[in-house]
Amino acid sequence: MDCIFCKIVNGDIPSQKVFENDRVLAFRDIQPAAPTHVLVIPKKHIASMNEAQDEDAELLGELLLTAKKVAAELGIAESGYRLVNNVGPNGGQVVYHIHVHILGGEKLGGLNV
Ligand code: 5GP
Repeated sequence: MDCIFCKIVNGDIPSQKVFENDRVLAFRDIQPAAPTHVLVIPKKHIASMNEAQDEDAELLGELLLTAKKVAAELGIAESGYRLVNNVGPNGGQVVYHIHVHILGGEKLGGLNV
């Protein structure tokens, strides 16, 4: 499978890991868009939210709860942060292995929805 995030999961591409268990992995984004920018991914390959199935509900919940825990561990929980999941071309998705961005460490601008 020619997926960059699967290669990170497998250790074929190095990453700065901040959390890992049997199901999920969190690592620092290579091009940070904020002082703290971490990606949380499932180890299972799911291309995007469009491909997620009902059977993935528990795993997707774990992604969000992992993001919360990582934000707390990195010290940005109190000041606040943003969780982002880009879907498809118009959503700005570049890597087709589902991921949640954790962005924080400063007051974030841009789209506020
Ligand atoms: P997307 O636009 O798909 O939501 O976000 C993909 C993110 O993956 C981007 O923020 C990009 O900087 C990050 N990224 C792409 N390739 C790598 C890589 O090899 N290592 C790491 N750590 N991040 C990557």
